[in-house]
Amino acid sequence: MDSQLTCFPYSVGHDGEGVCLLVQIGDHRVLLDCGLADISALEEGLALGGKSPMDVVLCSHAHSDHARGLRQLHQRFPQIPIYASEVTTQLLPLNWLEGKTSQENSVEHGENHGQNLCTALPWRSPIEILPGLVVELFPAGHLPGAALIFLTYTPPEPAQSLQLAALAQNLRPYTVFYTGDFFLSHARLVEGLDLQLVRGLQPDALIIEGIYGTARHPHRRQQENQLVEQMSRVLGEGRSILLPVPILGMGQEILMLLRSHHQFTGRRVDIWVDQSVATGCDAYLEILPHLPSTVQNFARHQPLFWDDRVLPRVRRLTTDFLGSLESSSEPCIVLVDHRNDWSSYYQDAPHNWVLFLPHSGQDSSKQDSRSQDFPSELNIINYLLAQHGDRQGTTQLIHNLRPQHIVFIHGSSTYLEDLTCLEELQSRYQLHCPKAGVLVDLPVGETFVQPSVPIQPNYEGELNELGTVVTITLPEAIAADPRWQKFADTGLVEAHWQGDELVLKGLSAREILQQNPSRTLLGIPCCSNCQYERQQRCTNPHSPLYRFKVPPEGYCPAFVPL
Ligand SMILES: [Zn+2]
Ligand SMILES: [Zn+2]
Repeated sequence: MDSQLTCFPYSVGHDGEGVCLLVQIGDHRVLLDCGLADISALEEGLALGGKSPMDVVLCSHAHSDHARGLRQLHQRFPQIPIYASEVTTQLLPLNWLEGKTSQENSVEHGENHGQNLCTALPWRSPIEILPGLVVELFPAGHLPGAALIFLTYTPPEPAQSLQLAALAQNLRPYTVFYTGDFFLSHARLVEGLDLQLVRGLQPDALIIEGIYGTARHPHRRQQENQLVEQMSRVLGEGRSILLPVPILGMGQEILMLLRSHHQFTGRRVDIWVDQSVATGCDAYLEILPHLPSTVQNFARHQPLFWDDRVLPRVRRLTTDFLGSLESSSEPCIVLVDHRNDWSSYYQDAPHNWVLFLPHSGQDSSKQDSRSQDFPSELNIINYLLAQHGDRQGTTQLIHNLRPQHIVFIHGSSTYLEDLTCLEELQSRYQLHCPKAGVLVDLPVGETFVQPSVPIQPNYEGELNELGTVVTITLPEAIAADPRWQKFADTGLVEAHWQGDELVLKGLSAREILQQNPSRTLLGIPCCSNCQYERQQRCTNPHSPLYRFKVPPEGYCPAFVPL
């Protein structure tokens, strides 16, 4: 008999593409998320004779990489029910705002709440959505409304005469646990996943995201402090900050961080928010009763986002204000929709701006290729404000759940493979790391057979200390990994201690120039090697650049070596 538990990934969320998975559980076909930009792949299944490609759809959260295909899907198959948490139902319409003004949005928002598209399910209440199929949602952290989805299928009780046959057919219940995106730590606007709620569920299969692979992150508070310090320093240098963010999540987190962090409260700086990100903020105001109680308390004393009185001021960036932004000499912070073209902000004076880009496992390669188009005078800072579990968070969730199978999705394939190489997982669970379009069979209850999983190569090297220099020699094979090119790009590495371990990181050309301009510009006549350069300004009255801000690689005839 065919296995009654399988997972067919239409899209596994490798390198930023969306997530869309079809799970066959007992008699039912459940679509988990629909992050496809184009749903035609779902329709191909119909050619094989089905009425619809799935029986029900569940959406984990409102981020576009999990939800953007839902409206198209609903238009094509209006009879198929779609379920999500209540907050996700409210936030979903933000995925389809293109080309509308903020006012039109709020009208649309009023009459076309996600309810038409999607039915809300309460937290932590098992509900039978199809015969024998029960779904229960748990808060996942990561984004308001984000849910862990727990599915239980119980086959119908067979008639007595058929019981033996049923036994022979192994008609048993199945359970699947899907994480969507999850995060264990508390963020400013959403509480972290509470492991106690899901401890010991022992699903037959766990489908789990692994965006950060086996990376280890500092504590969330430490990440916040570091970001705030970096921003504070940049403003102190008289430069403005440009933050491209998605409509939901990161932007609101950063705003809330700046509104409540002691380094910024009371600070005379204007924070501007472009129209689409502002729409996201307004949506947060509508879900205020679902936000953490600390946030609700804050909102009782002052506006959550829009505030003209209390410093720092947070304001909507409308076209009228754009002009005042350009003419103002005061440094400011601007949050823009990351999908838009935001080069116009820094185009005229890139040296006055610093671009803050999120450092995330899966997007780093893309950012690098994009950064090559940036003007060289534009400084870029990669910050970490994680919204997903790191290695510890991921393994903690797994060990608390104790599944039989683990299906890793969502992240670069090298990062996901790193997870399948972890010995602590290999020895306990059956691991899968599927490609899109390849069916994963999840045989249940059988004797433990570990499918062939890759073994992470361990490279042995040699250390040599010669006087003041340490040389590390590694075998050639290490360069076979696709990550090597990026790592070895400049031939320079940065090293730091992490406990007793030494961590090596490849340095990109841009990082070198920004962190320590003199290192690459050593000996070259340029501003960073000139006696008169003080905090990136020229102090030489005989120079045409006198009192101007100068880039490290700048030059004038009045150059005087250090
Ligand atoms: Zn997400
Ligand atoms: Zn995601």
